[in-house]
Amino acid sequence: MSKKYVYLFSEGNANMRELLGGKGANLAEMTNIGLPVPQGFTITTEACTQYYEDGRQINDEIMAQIMEYIVKMEEITGKKFGDHENPLLVSVRSGARASMPGMMDTILNLGLNEEVVEVMAKKSGNARWAYDCYRRFIQMYSDVVMEVGKKYFEELIDKMKEEKGVKLDVELTAEDLKELAEQFKAEYKAKIGTDFPSDPKEQLLGAVKAVFRSWDNPRANVYRRDNDIPYSWGTAVNVQAMAFGNMGDDCGTGVAFTRDPATGEKKLMGEFLTNAQGEDVVAGVRTPMPIAEMANKFPAAFEQFVKVCEILENHYHDMQDMEFTVENEKLYMLQTRNGKRTAQAALQIAVDLVAEGHKTEQEAVLMIDPRNLDTLLHPQFDAKALKAANVAGKGLGASPGAACGKCVFSAEDAKEWAARGEKVVLVRLETSPEDIEGMKAAQGILTVRGGMTSHAAVVARGMGKCCVSGCGEIKMDEENKKFELAGKTYGEGDFISIDGSTGNIYDGIIPTVDAEISGNFGTIMG
Ligand code: ADP
Ligand code: MG
Repeated sequence: MSKKYVYLFSEGNANMRELLGGKGANLAEMTNIGLPVPQGFTITTEACTQYYEDGRQINDEIMAQIMEYIVKMEEITGKKFGDHENPLLVSVRSGARASMPGMMDTILNLGLNEEVVEVMAKKSGNARWAYDCYRRFIQMYSDVVMEVGKKYFEELIDKMKEEKGVKLDVELTAEDLKELAEQFKAEYKAKIGTDFPSDPKEQLLGAVKAVFRSWDNPRANVYRRDNDIPYSWGTAVNVQAMAFGNMGDDCGTGVAFTRDPATGEKKLMGEFLTNAQGEDVVAGVRTPMPIAEMANKFPAAFEQFVKVCEILENHYHDMQDMEFTVENEKLYMLQTRNGKRTAQAALQIAVDLVAEGHKTEQEAVLMIDPRNLDTLLHPQFDAKALKAANVAGKGLGASPGAACGKCVFSAEDAKEWAARGEKVVLVRLETSPEDIEGMKAAQGILTVRGGMTSHAAVVARGMGKCCVSGCGEIKMDEENKKFELAGKTYGEGDFISIDGSTGNIYDGIIPTVDAEISGNFGTIMG
């Protein structure tokens, strides 16, 4: 038998992430535990690898399987590609084994053409929605598949809004959007030289190829290098029936975490937008509402969502990061994964998961990345005081931690002042081996020159001492023991505060709090 390159969501599960990618495996898992997931199928990472082996071509065998699964999907949904009664629209979504947020591309509303959009407009009585989908599709397809560039379409949208005297996309009418779709197609033809493809199957294959190709795009390659993800893994492609968050005010789309990813507190966190689709929430076109507002907008869908969050946590035994859409007050789940979190949140969540019976102590300890704990072992600025502080300048965050003290300009002075009980920050053009004693005596080190591998940076990290290096904005006068930054002159004894994690330099005093191996940290270390 030939190799299986395509799986319905109902044929997969969470353990198949190598083959189905993280997104596909979790869509399959959510489908199997009975959550409301729009139907679809996943083309495997092996199909992607094969595509590259075949010289960036989808071979006949894979092509045949994709076509076979389109038919299966049409049977399951009762909708058909290009149909004039009940057209099927899908999203085509990338999804590698390891999460690479925003690195590869997604196309929504695929399957639309001139006739299908008319049918949708008539049958739904909602022409605005139909043409909103159409113009989004042309825009995404042109950008992702044909690499025309988003900006040309953004410019046309801006021009249209200006002509109509409106500020927001949602204020454009059905006619405006229809006109925009025409302009988009003309733009496509001008740039590519052929008409925009109207055959949904051709559109689908173009989109699948584009996702495979996006595995090799420069931003994905850089992300993989920084995150130790092998090139050989390839990406899967998910083809999924659309859920529409843009049909009106009883629709919307959002993202949420089951716990606060900054603090770890057990409470639903997230944002959503009414009458919106896909990336609108994170794209910043409109300001989203906090998730709690959803309780007022769509109480039934919200109640169901809260239940889904609980089911997902009980199933995965970890904090989840989710995407969802509400179509006519009905909830659809579009993605879930274990959420990224700060070091502080990681500790809180690990401790809580043990207390709640989700994890054993051993499992909880294994959830924590030891590299992240480093940030918790250094003094930090008092969070409240930091909010009110003025950033005077920025250098490189060369060695983590926070320091506040009086400026001194030589290693000798640092030692002397510290010996009388003063807290000092040693400010130098650059440091050299003779400065070590002074560096030790100081709360932190600030240099004008030098990068992450400069003497100051390397020595400070070795000492576990806060250091901001290479702040070229500083006008230094070492001889007269003063410097200028952001229009202010700092002399010996003037207070300054520096953050070795962010590289920020603050005017004046910001109190610091020492790291303590207590609380959650203590529990985990224990
Ligand atoms: P990314 O990996 O960049 O998040 P996604 O594939 O998750 O890309 O999709 C981008 C956006 O489109 C997300 O907001 C997602 O929820 C939305 N989306 C994807 N597929 C569908 C669908 N079938 N129906 C509605 N929205 C979808
Ligand atoms: Mg996503």
